[in-house]
Amino acid sequence: MRLFLALALTCLVAAAQPAVKSGLDVSSFDPSVRPQDDLYRFVNGHWLESAVIPADRVTYGTFIELADRAEQDVRQIIERLGRGGTEQQIRDLYASMLDEGRIEALGAAPIQPELDRIAAIDSPTALARQIGHLSAMNAGGPFGASAGLDANNPAALIVTITQGGTLLPERDYYFKSDEATRAIREKYLAYLTHIFTLAGWTSDAANVRAVLDLETTLARAQQPHAESRIRPPRKPMNLRDAEREMPGFVWTEWAKPQGLDHATTIVFEQPEFFRAFAATVTVVPLETWKSWLAARYITASSIYVSRAFADARFEFFGRVLSGQEAPRERWKRGVSLVNGYLGDAMGQMYVREHFPESSRQRVRAMVRTIVDAFRDAVREAAWMTPDARREALAKLDFLQAGVGYPDRWRSYEGLHMRADDLLGNVQRAQKFENDYRIMRLRRRFEPRQWLMPPQTVNAYYTPSRNEIILPAAMLQPPLFDPAADDAVNYGGIGAIIGHEIGHAFDQRGRRFDAFGRVRDWWTAGDEEQFQHRARRLVAQFNAYEPLPGQFVNGELTLGENIGDLGGLAVAVRAYRLSLRRKPAPTIDGFSGEQRLFLRWAQIWREKIREEYLRQTLFLNQHAPPKYRAHGAVVNVDAFQDAFGLKPGDKLYREPAQRVKIW
Ligand SMILES: [Zn+2]
Repeated sequence: MRLFLALALTCLVAAAQPAVKSGLDVSSFDPSVRPQDDLYRFVNGHWLESAVIPADRVTYGTFIELADRAEQDVRQIIERLGRGGTEQQIRDLYASMLDEGRIEALGAAPIQPELDRIAAIDSPTALARQIGHLSAMNAGGPFGASAGLDANNPAALIVTITQGGTLLPERDYYFKSDEATRAIREKYLAYLTHIFTLAGWTSDAANVRAVLDLETTLARAQQPHAESRIRPPRKPMNLRDAEREMPGFVWTEWAKPQGLDHATTIVFEQPEFFRAFAATVTVVPLETWKSWLAARYITASSIYVSRAFADARFEFFGRVLSGQEAPRERWKRGVSLVNGYLGDAMGQMYVREHFPESSRQRVRAMVRTIVDAFRDAVREAAWMTPDARREALAKLDFLQAGVGYPDRWRSYEGLHMRADDLLGNVQRAQKFENDYRIMRLRRRFEPRQWLMPPQTVNAYYTPSRNEIILPAAMLQPPLFDPAADDAVNYGGIGAIIGHEIGHAFDQRGRRFDAFGRVRDWWTAGDEEQFQHRARRLVAQFNAYEPLPGQFVNGELTLGENIGDLGGLAVAVRAYRLSLRRKPAPTIDGFSGEQRLFLRWAQIWREKIREEYLRQTLFLNQHAPPKYRAHGAVVNVDAFQDAFGLKPGDKLYREPAQRVKIW
């Protein structure tokens, strides 16, 4: 009886509902532009004219809007938390960031003990130990590190170390001789002088200059960014190998505080850099190394101590390098801390309120349809040899997808948070994180843990696990709109899912097989065909000129562009599959496939500060969003057909000029 009544009610409600919504924000459109000439402006023109980048941001667009919403959602949850247990940990961490009075009263005192330890370094051995100690707390250690599965043996774990040692965002900042870059170096010297003075460290000009010179030497040894992305995986070493092959730096002392020993497998991502780094230790005076390490430690800690430090860092790294106008408000930094250090605990509460089970089911169904569509695309890829095609299909068969939140949550038991000790909280949390990673290494066991919590607006693919991860904060409108017709969801989150799966076959991911092992399963013929397509895509993106005389780096952005191109093409296929041979409805005057491409262009709407744009052109593996929007559609037949493009239209491309991988 009840069942019957419920059904009847459902019918009534459905009948009373208006026709299904397209989900498009047509108010942002600029009808004075033709989509055939500039899809991006047609969809976003009105928004581009009216949107303003918030003072504390360097970009503004769909992904920032989503991140802002998630940030607000997290804040509201924090403000309602109870006492005791995990909730108390979150409250205390957040409160420690917000207690400005306490932070100002302490001044430079919280950073003093470590500065004293740096000042007391009296030998290369002590230097290596202190570097390792700061690395274990992520407090100015010079190299990036990650513990993960061994790509050649996914059951084992391995620590990967990446080059570093410089504070400017990219090595070119140390060499370029144009006026703008020279001015940045002058301001960097002023920054170093300023923080040394604040911290009571030797701040005379010769000392500051010596730090810059040392960083310049290290920058010269660094591998350029675009190159490092396409490298094949490196030879694993242990500490004994490192001492032998990279003499000069006491690697065993560096390893100890981080919990690494002779049994640990270490991969140096850029061995040439580490060899040069170690050799430099013996020729540069110890006093210079100490100042270099002090600069790194103060910079890393500055946002957790008094305002004078935080402002100095903001003026240089925020304003000068990125064009940011105001620092982030304290509550926002508090939310970031909670997400960073107690992410899973916060995530459980976040998904309970903001990610219904129905969304999880629907996105999972979309993932299945997209994988089916990807399979069709691989089967039809005439350029592949049968063997490579079989391997590619196996990768799709064994692909794992994490949707919304992980199946298991991690625990933060034993992590001590205090409402009156901001820097201490951060350092303890970093140490906790480091120990947790090492503990996993020791047990040769990895729980199904994500690299980012569910309240993150991002997504990723891990080649060594053959897995895509889609956090819940990403599965929100406009990327995923449960109230909208399917077309826009395939153009939004659908294309992003396709993009992440596309990373399984980009120039890095394609070196791994279905089980995450590094194995070359491409024949010479496949390699040649793939490279041919990749080179043409590189050339297309190299021609985009976001600033006069400054072009997109097609090589640097290749992996992401391959992801976009394949992701969008596969999203169209998946949308067609989802229709099950029924015609797509016309909504808001647009056909189904038109709506899909309109959403694709809409999700990339973004405003960006010029300083930051300059920086991202060097550094970012993603092209500026406008070029991502257009760079993909010009190569997709379905776009050219959906809007009836003809020769003469600005986005028209001869069929022979279109790059097609999938
Ligand atoms: Zn990507």
